[in-house]
Amino acid sequence: MRFALFTLLTILLASSASFAQKSFHKNKVIAHRGAWKANGLPQNSIASLKQAVALGCEGSEFDVWMTSDGILVVNHDADFEGMEIETSTYKELLTKKLANGENLPTVEEYLKAGKKQKGTKLIFEIKPSKISVERSQEVAEKSVLAVKKMKAEKWVDYITFSYEGGLKAIEMDPKANVAYLTGDKTPAELKEAGFFGFDYNINLLKNNPQWIQEAKDLGLTVNAWTVNKEEDLRWFLDQEPDFITTDEPELLFRLIEAKK
Ligand code: MG
Repeated sequence: MRFALFTLLTILLASSASFAQKSFHKNKVIAHRGAWKANGLPQNSIASLKQAVALGCEGSEFDVWMTSDGILVVNHDADFEGMEIETSTYKELLTKKLANGENLPTVEEYLKAGKKQKGTKLIFEIKPSKISVERSQEVAEKSVLAVKKMKAEKWVDYITFSYEGGLKAIEMDPKANVAYLTGDKTPAELKEAGFFGFDYNINLLKNNPQWIQEAKDLGLTVNAWTVNKEEDLRWFLDQEPDFITTDEPELLFRLIEAKK
């Protein structure tokens, strides 16, 4: 009887949605700010992360800022409901909600939600501070420390427009995957600095397609933002990138399926 109960529990655990997926998906689809668009969810909400997980995306991207009192929060813009994040306290930011009723998520809350599953990676964008380069480095440092504290290293890849912030993240965790967003460094320069790859603007890559092969030859990963138009998705898929960042994960899944 005890054995039967144990077996039943094992089956229940193995089949529960959270742990059914044993390893991360490999399908290139990165939902930009979560999968929000098709269901009208707020960008960067926990709900949009859960939707990216439900779709089976390889990654779900989110943006991180630091409040004036040093709390890392998840939001795209520099301001939230009229409050500048970098000069507001976390408590002040809590006075407003996301459109779906969620509080502005902290990084800790976001990672906690993301760690409940093992299919979708968490693509952590370290936002450059508008105050100073030093503050960007501080945000990067705190970000890596938060990921370590949450034991979320396996889930997290970093991206950033802040070159200095990226270098700081690499210094804090040399094993971390950190990709650069700005587009002003060649693949060789990124390799030399210890980056994992690039995640460049799709139009920049269309104008400099040779960077894609150069990156692959150097063992760097290739990703682009934010690829939403069908013709661009098709063009980029043909380049066989590692990842594609899009607001249209459902469309991208359809195009990948059609290519098989
Ligand atoms: Mg972003």
